[in-house]
Parts: sequence; C-alpha cells; structure tokens
Amino acid sequence: LRGVVALDGPSGTGKSTVSRRLASALGATYLDTGAMYRAATLAVLRAGADPSDEAEVRRIVSAARLVVGTDPGHPEVLLDGVDVGREIRGPQVTAAVSAVSAVAEVRRLLVGQQREVIRRALVSPGGIVVEGRDIGTAVAPEAGLKVYLTASARARAERRTAQDVSEGRAGNLDRTHQDVQRRDALDSGRAVSPLRMADDAVELDTTELDLPAVLEQLHKLVEL
Ligand code: C5P
Repeated sequence: LRGVVALDGPSGTGKSTVSRRLASALGATYLDTGAMYRAATLAVLRAGADPSDEAEVRRIVSAARLVVGTDPGHPEVLLDGVDVGREIRGPQVTAAVSAVSAVAEVRRLLVGQQREVIRRALVSPGGIVVEGRDIGTAVAPEAGLKVYLTASARARAERRTAQDVSEGRAGNLDRTHQDVQRRDALDSGRAVSPLRMADDAVELDTTELDLPAVLEQLHKLVEL
C-alpha cells in the first residue's frame, strides 16, 4: 500500500501533531485511530458500564455510531451524531481507554472500520497518514512507509502536560508521567495487538527533536 503512511508509537511522542502536519503537507487524508478507541470508551462510560466487563463493552461499542473525520485540518469525531472531540481527551476517558481497547471484539470492530477508511482514501491520489499503536503491525501491515515514534517517558509527560494546559485542562506533570507509564505498560502488555514496533518500521526518537526537525525527518523518509 504505497499510499499509506503508518505512524505508531506511545502517547506523548508528538504523533498527532506530526501526523496531521505531514498529511496536510502531502495533500493526504488523515486517520487518528486513538480517537476511535477514545470515542468507544466514552460510549462505555456514558452507558455507565464497567470498562473491564467485556461482554457489556462489546455490546455498547457495536451499537455506538462512531464517525471519525479524515481532514487533517479539522479531524472531527462524532459519537451518535454529536461532536465529542473535546470530551474524548478528558481524564475519565484517558483513564479507561486502555481497558476498552484491550477487548478483542472492540479491536475487531474498529480495525474493520479503519481498513474501510484506508480503502476509500486510496481511491484518491493523496494517500493517507494513519496514526495509532498497531497500524504497521495489524491494521495496515503492507503500508508503504512505517514510522515508530519514541521519546523518553519524561519528555512525553512534559508534552502531554503542555498540551493539557494549552487546551484549557489542568496540567499536572507528575500525574501525567505516571499515567504515561501506566498506559505504556497496559498497551504493551495486552494480549491483542500489543504496542510494538513493526520489524520493517523506521524508529524515530523525538526526545531531543522539536516539531520542525521531526517533520524534516519524515519528509526525507517519504521521499526515499
Ligand atoms: O493515541 P491516543 O493516546 O489518543 O490513544 C488512546 C489509547 O487508545 C491508547 O492508550 C491505546 O490504549 C488505544 N489505542 C490502541 N490502538 C490504536 C490507537 C490507540 O489500542 N491503534
């Protein structure tokens, strides 16, 4: 799949910003798969269900109508027709998303939707930039370019905290650092599609790189 750029890695590596900028520059569409797991998690929380109750989670997520936009300039997320772009970034969803995304049936449903978005995007000339945890390993293993973004846990916590503050949420570096480590452990240790780098991905450590430097590296990789 030459037209697919897979950008994977843990949270706080700058993946979302980088993916959107790259997609805009390439004239590509964009898919944020994390937003889909977050919207599914919001559906579970709104229903008052326990995120570790697999049967209940499966029932709720199958019934939810999730729509994730593919415009990198304005990637909207709709749950049952209502924009939930802000709410899915809040602390309740962040605390529960690893549990919901570990449910095999949730992954099967969402990976199916993701592949459908990719299939449609490939009909147009610009291709698609897809960000997540398992794009290179499970969703689009035949992607033309796979990049795995990393950074130290501290650097990632600092970026997440700065993002929280800039988006009007309370920032707490120590709590965010703990949350980053907790989610890394859950995402890497789960049975289905654990977070790991694909064998044929290029690793890009962003600890010491600012956004323009990361984008420069990515443009070089795209041109190869
Ligand atoms: O990227 P973001 O932090 O929004 O992702 C939220 C959570 O969704 C991750 O911590 C992970 O549990 C889950 N996720 C996943 N597979 C993906 C994308 C996200 O399991 N492809």
